[in-house]
Amino acid sequence: MDSQELLALDRAHCWHPFTQAQTAAPPLLIERAAGAHLFAADGRRYFDAVSSWWVNLHGHAHTRIAEAIAQQARQMEQVMFAGLTHAPAIELAAALAARLPPPLQHVFFSDNGSTAIEVALKMCVQYWANRGRPRRRFLSLEGGYHGDTFGAMAAGRSSGFYGPFADWLFEVDVLPCAHGAWDTPDADLEAAERAALAALDAYLSAHGDELVAFVLEPLVQGASGMRMQRAAHVAALVRRVQAAGVPVIFDEVMTGFGRTGTLFACEQVGVAPDIICLSKGLTGGFLPMGATVAQPHLYEAFLGESVERALLHGHSYTANPLGCAAALASLRVFDEEATLARIAAQGALHEELLRELAAHPLVRAPRRCGSIAAFDLRLSDAGYGSSAGQWLRERMRERGVLLRPLGTSVYFIAPYCSSEDDFRAAYAALREVLDAWPRGAPAGASEHF
Ligand SMILES: *Cc1c(COP(=O)(O)O)cnc(C)c1O
Repeated sequence: MDSQELLALDRAHCWHPFTQAQTAAPPLLIERAAGAHLFAADGRRYFDAVSSWWVNLHGHAHTRIAEAIAQQARQMEQVMFAGLTHAPAIELAAALAARLPPPLQHVFFSDNGSTAIEVALKMCVQYWANRGRPRRRFLSLEGGYHGDTFGAMAAGRSSGFYGPFADWLFEVDVLPCAHGAWDTPDADLEAAERAALAALDAYLSAHGDELVAFVLEPLVQGASGMRMQRAAHVAALVRRVQAAGVPVIFDEVMTGFGRTGTLFACEQVGVAPDIICLSKGLTGGFLPMGATVAQPHLYEAFLGESVERALLHGHSYTANPLGCAAALASLRVFDEEATLARIAAQGALHEELLRELAAHPLVRAPRRCGSIAAFDLRLSDAGYGSSAGQWLRERMRERGVLLRPLGTSVYFIAPYCSSEDDFRAAYAALREVLDAWPRGAPAGASEHF
């Protein structure tokens, strides 16, 4: 089928995520992907500077991972995970436990980031119920995003993405999020951190004994615009909540697998959460899979004589062997390709290029954490904000770089195999686009993600 026929069928049958089909430009038809690049039917090559929604780690169609999946598919593609088990799941659970802070030991597999969060929320609700002390309140950080299923939407309700569903979500309390950038005065950030800690203290003394769990994205809040927090502050929040006997859930769906410079953000925080949620990069970006990893004190609260005490949750494809094989291969690539060293080099390059770009009058709040680099557009007309991101996205696409600004926040989360040339060209293209910034407001629907 030629690309015109394919795009006509796409229009007729494919319902795309986060997309207003009536006004969106036709999607790019991608035929092939390799390394940090996507090859489109228009004959052009694009730098995938957002790792295809933050999932790809080592590059597209990485041979080692592709071969691990093919080999696993020929041997055993899928079996149920209740009453049965298999080496790929066992080895992956053990490999994750070996790389996570030591108390995180018990791995529950699911299918994506939202389910990893749902499982964590349900674990905490039942943890209290099993202990004979049911509780009802959750606490989150303002701006946190945790996924699109109902529990995940409730946990992330302050992100403001959920208009029509807002009345359907269970109540989740919200703590201010203290975040900053290179141009944030130290005194301002410290004041915001102190205020957040004071709010937490007040909250815990009023409601600590009703609290089911505290859920947050550590170090970097992704979907709310790559908002970066300092590790010592996150550690202080976690210590206070844990001291009150309340479980802390780290949503590392985005920050996991090297994005923040360490394999997991919790390593920099220096305090182990009670539960960590992983997905996105878990399989190197090849297959959908999630994991919720808990400390023994949570796991043990589910042990007993009755099945009602067990976690009665599962998905048809729990611990899918293909996903496990991909994840194991991806972890091996971390060692074989010295990926953490690559991430450090990528971070240093961002640091250099972003410092140069930061002098541009349209750039504010430049910031970086590991391989994530971001800034906000400085726009005089706030109402123009969301379509500005889209305008920038289209101009960058014309220049062969795929970006997806979040509102007015522009960011890179590129595959770890991206070359220095890829980045230099992308920053040069950004500068060109910023220099050519129009005075009028381009029309267009606002977009998330
Ligand atoms: C993407 C994301 C999720 C949701 O993951 P899906 O696989 O899209 O369901 C949850 N939390 C964070 C921090 C994310 O970035």
